[in-house]
Amino acid sequence: MPTSINPTRRLLIKGIAAVCLLSATRVGFAAQAQMVAVRVWPSSTYTRVTLESNILLSYKQYMLTNPRRLVIDIDNLYLNSVFRGITTLVKAEDPYIKLIRVGQFNTKTVRLVIELKQDVNPNLFTLKPISEFKNRLVIDLYPVQKNVADEDPLVALLEEFNKGSLDDNDPAVVNQPIVKDRNKIVVVLDPGHGGEDPGAIGYYKTREKDVVLQIARRLRDLLVKEKNITVHMTRDEDVFLPLRVRVEKARALRADLFISIHADAFTKRNVKGSSVFALSTKGASSSAANYLAQTQNEADEIGGVSRSGDHYLDHTILDLVQTITKSNSMVLGSTVLNKMKHVNTLHNSRVETAGFAVLKAPDVPSILVETAFISNLNEEKKLKTAAFQNQIAKAMLDGIKEYVKLRKN
Ligand SMILES: [Zn+2]
Repeated sequence: MPTSINPTRRLLIKGIAAVCLLSATRVGFAAQAQMVAVRVWPSSTYTRVTLESNILLSYKQYMLTNPRRLVIDIDNLYLNSVFRGITTLVKAEDPYIKLIRVGQFNTKTVRLVIELKQDVNPNLFTLKPISEFKNRLVIDLYPVQKNVADEDPLVALLEEFNKGSLDDNDPAVVNQPIVKDRNKIVVVLDPGHGGEDPGAIGYYKTREKDVVLQIARRLRDLLVKEKNITVHMTRDEDVFLPLRVRVEKARALRADLFISIHADAFTKRNVKGSSVFALSTKGASSSAANYLAQTQNEADEIGGVSRSGDHYLDHTILDLVQTITKSNSMVLGSTVLNKMKHVNTLHNSRVETAGFAVLKAPDVPSILVETAFISNLNEEKKLKTAAFQNQIAKAMLDGIKEYVKLRKN
């Protein structure tokens, strides 16, 4: 709960207290919570409801049946038009939510009722303000029933992440036996950001999370045609995934290579061009690389993860990173960069290095491709076109094929 009240507010409260002593004592001096934004992010993986407020919300949750529903009572809150609007945000195709109701339960409590289509594991947590976001109460609804035929380890990894067990050096999901065709190269594509985290937003309001998903899908469609390649994506919908979960999904799928796809913003609009990054544990190769790694690593806080202080593979594990993974990452970076120079100017003609959290799989050669800068007006326009997206995808395909010939086993 907030402890500070600004002087004007304090005066106002004193004034009210003078008029009505009784209620002032009961209400106390806590600032009034106010809902400033509400969002619903449906996806097949999980559905997220985000309640954004001026101060931290205090709440209680109950799971009830007939009908199957999740009830959340939020204290010290009056229902306003923003919160009322949540009832209209539920989509018919939402796999988990049937409808949402909201009402003033008593003078100081608002009750939110989420009616469900199937049994869910709810995960509620709050997030402190970051970037343009104020305080957030996040309600994630995960499926209880897993599809047995579904070999995607994503939901299991998210569960481990929420329990905190992904912090182990070797998460259970990664150790699960997997039938792997030794003759096939497993490629995992990672479209950056998603869901609550839009990534960078261009001048014309183009969202990074959308264009990178489009590019990744185009590249996937090219890769499926290759006989010696199996391709997976960390996400194929508008869903937020923690960075660590992306890395562990690649490991669980026994990936031979991992490509994270981005189109970030820089502080200056004239900065343009494509670049490719590999992991460095010893600092960044340039200040721009350092800036991008820092903004990328903030994605978890912006998108929202339930546990503060989630740490990535720490230095002791990174010391174990096989030199072969590192050198293969550099080879992959160079072959991709080499092909990209034919379709866009290069921001840097060499593979750059920085401490990107999403590249920290100890055993999977990994690169992060900045396809173009969404902060540059020209590149933002290009990023939206099918023609440029196809060119970038084709260049990455050719880079991957070249890498497969050169890599060391
Ligand atoms: Zn990005």
